[in-house]
Amino acid sequence: ENGNDLPKTIISREYSSEWKPGDEPYYPVNDAKNGALYAEYKKLADAEPKVIFGGRLGEYKYYDMDQVIAAVLDRCDTELQ
Ligand SMILES: Cc1cc2nc3c(=O)[nH]c(=O)nc-3n(C[C@H](O)[C@H](O)[C@H](O)COP(=O)(O)OP(=O)(O)OC[C@H]3O[C@@H](n4cnc5c(N)ncnc54)[C@H](O)[C@@H]3O)c2cc1C
Repeated sequence: ENGNDLPKTIISREYSSEWKPGDEPYYPVNDAKNGALYAEYKKLADAEPKVIFGGRLGEYKYYDMDQVIAAVLDRCDTELQ
């Protein structure tokens, strides 16, 4: 029911790749394809007035921890004013 009772084990692996000129030096990769996909998710997110989507996943944005905490504190100021 909640997707955990699978008949097999799924293992995924990530491999780093060598940066070369023209590549974005960090992730997420904000190219046209990914930007268009994010715009579709943003439309769905904006249709949920009682949910605030934030952080790396919610904003599809590169954040280190200090930046993501600062962003959420800013958002709290805006929302709670
Ligand atoms: C390998 C690695 C090394 C890093 N090293 C550093 C570092 O040295 N210093 C530093 O400052 N930052 C570092 N970071 C970045 C830091 O981890 C992020 O900036 C920070 O975790 C972002 O916080 P977040 O809340 O936006 O996202 P996350 O911490 O990724 O939280 C997102 C949460 O959403 C949950 N989630 C996902 N999908 C769903 C769903 N459909 N429904 C409900 N929940 C869901 C996930 O399980 C997760 O708990 C590193 C990141 C990585 C991947």
